Formats: sequence, structure tokens, C-alpha cells
Amino acid sequence: ATTPVNVTVTGAAGQIGYALLFRIAAGDLLGDDVPVRLRLLEIPQAVKAAEGTALELHDSAFELLDGIDVYDDAQQAFDGTNVALLVGARPRTQGMERADLLEANGGIFKPQGEALNGAADDAKVLVVGNPANTNALIARSNSDVPADRFTAMTRLDHNRAVGQLAAKYGVRVGSVSKMTIWGNHSATQYPDVTYAEIDGKPIGSEVDQSWLTEEFIPRVAKRGAEIIEVRGASSAASAAAAAIDHVYTWVNGTKQNDWTSAAIVSDGSYGVPEGLVSSFPVTASNGKFEIVQGLEISDFSRERIDASVNELAEEREAVQKLGLV
Ligand code: NDP
Repeated sequence: ATTPVNVTVTGAAGQIGYALLFRIAAGDLLGDDVPVRLRLLEIPQAVKAAEGTALELHDSAFELLDGIDVYDDAQQAFDGTNVALLVGARPRTQGMERADLLEANGGIFKPQGEALNGAADDAKVLVVGNPANTNALIARSNSDVPADRFTAMTRLDHNRAVGQLAAKYGVRVGSVSKMTIWGNHSATQYPDVTYAEIDGKPIGSEVDQSWLTEEFIPRVAKRGAEIIEVRGASSAASAAAAAIDHVYTWVNGTKQNDWTSAAIVSDGSYGVPEGLVSSFPVTASNGKFEIVQGLEISDFSRERIDASVNELAEEREAVQKLGLV
């Protein structure tokens, strides 16, 4: 019925890409009445593998899938795109310095930011590839696409926190609302339960402080490492599910009396320096994220938010020195 929405996925032949593409094609990203056209971007040596995934997508006979194209050129892959999921990134290898990691990713996200100038007017960009917040900063700084279209993913951290809270309270995840992730998608992130509710009832004052500081916060922040240890491979399907949730919420809005977490370009709210791509409590409506305002921040929270935001500021300084932003 409607015209297909163009969705570009970078790193399409990777683990997350493999989990993500089938859910997008099934209609989970935008809605089960919205046809999609998939555009897969890969580096030349992974194009063949992406083509293999494209064959499997054909074989799945998804009714909403209008077509699939595979590219090794960012300009082409982003031309006219409506939703860009930037999953491909240069992983940190053993012994690699942070500056080297940032520089290698600058070589990916700077040209991708430039190529996004050819995207559709309503383009929405989600960076998943790590270091996601700073990769998003680099892309944004090298693009004419408005700053409010650039986001990075902390929805997986958010979902992990919601899962842990639901388990602790013996309820379904749907009972948990107003969870917040602040800061960087890294081990310094701050999962904040101050305003969290179970079935609409605030839990803040009754939370067991030692459980919070010794179990909950580190467990959420280090869940990625736990998955690697138990599964023997890094999280992929849960990261894909979070990317789906992030975009679905951005396009279709948050629920009444709830919010979610997303890393967006700071406007200076809550003392987060303007321009940093940092995670906030956000609502979404009419295709726009907005930071939830007016929350009182305790000393306990302030210290943790500042620690993660300082890390983001250091990453920004490092990429400034490299001439990437
Ligand atoms: P994955 O698909 O497993 O991961 C992709 C990226 O997502 C990594 O940067 C990874 O970070 C990040 N990520 C963010 N959150 C999570 C999470 N919760 N769990 C796991 N990963 C997370 O990587 P693969 O190596 O399987 O695939 C990457 C693909 O990207 C390759 O096919 C490669 O060719 C491609 N690539 C494409 C580029 C392009 O299109 N221009 C550029 C660079 C690479 P982390 O490394 O920290 O786990």
C-alpha cells in the first residue's frame, strides 16, 4: 500500500547484522504494515557474505520486503535512505590504544557522516558499532544532516536493566517503567533506578542499596562480558533486538507514563556538555526524541553520571586532536 521505507544496514554480514536483517524484513522495525527496502553496506571483502544473507532473505519470502541491494560504497548505500543503522565498526584488538581505536573508527564514521548528506530529508541514524557514542559524534560532526537525527544505542543496556529489575521483583518486564541509562555505552554507564516503577509504583526509596551498588549496577554495565563468557560469543540477537526497539520507539513513540533511554546529542541538560552524544531518559513522539526534564539528581547519581560523561568528554577531546570532529 504505502511506499517502501529505505533502511540501510552497515556491517550487514556481521553477527548483529545477521540477527537484525530478518527482523527488519519481518516488519519489526517500523510496523507490520510498512514495506521496507533493505540496503546492505559492507567492506569489499565481506560483500559476498552479505550477498549470501540477501539470498536467505529472499528465501524467507517476507511479504513486507520490497527489495535488497548490497553495496561496498557508502554514498550509494545511503542515497535516499530513511533509516541508517550503523553496525559495522572496527573492533578493539588486543593491545590497541584508545587513540588507535578512535582513529580507525574515524576512518569509517567520518566518510559515512559525509555520505549521509545524500540521505532522505527525514533520515534517522542509529549507531550501534562501538565506541558507539563517539562514532555517532564523528558522523554527526561530518554531516549536514541535523544533529537531532544522530543517535547511539543504549537501549540494550536499558533492556538489560529492565530485565534485571523484573527478575528481582518477580514481575514481567512490561511491569517495569521509567528506567534510565545515563552516559556512555561502556562500563562507566550509569543504570539509574531512582525513578523506576513497578506496575506504576515508584521503587526508588525502597531499593536495597547494597544490591544496587554491588549487584545491579555492575551486572548491567558488565553484561556484555558475562554473555561472552557464558555463550562463548558476544551478544548479537539481543543487540539486534535493542536496535529494533530503539528505532521502533523513535518512529512510533514511547508509551504514556513511561520513557526509554537513548544516546542523543546533548543540549546541555543535566550538566552534560552540549554536543556530546550521551544517554538520557527520553520520550519520543512525532518522530522526535526529547530529554525528560526536571528530574532531581541525587549526589549518588550525580557522581556516576559525571564519571561516564567525563569519559565521553575525553573521547571527544581525543577525536578533536585527531581532526575527526
Ligand atoms: P558484530 O556484528 O558482532 O558487532 C558489530 C558492532 O556492534 C561492533 O562494533 C560491536 O562492538 C557493536 N556492539 C554494540 N553493542 C553490542 C553488544 N551489546 N553486543 C555485541 N556487539 C555490540 O560484529 P562482527 O564482527 O560480526 O561484524 C562486523 C561487520 O562489520 C563485519 O562484517 C565487517 O566486515 C563489517 N564492517 C563494515 C563496515 C562498513 O560497512 N563500512 C566498516 C567496518 C566493519 P564490540 O566490537 O565492542 O563488541
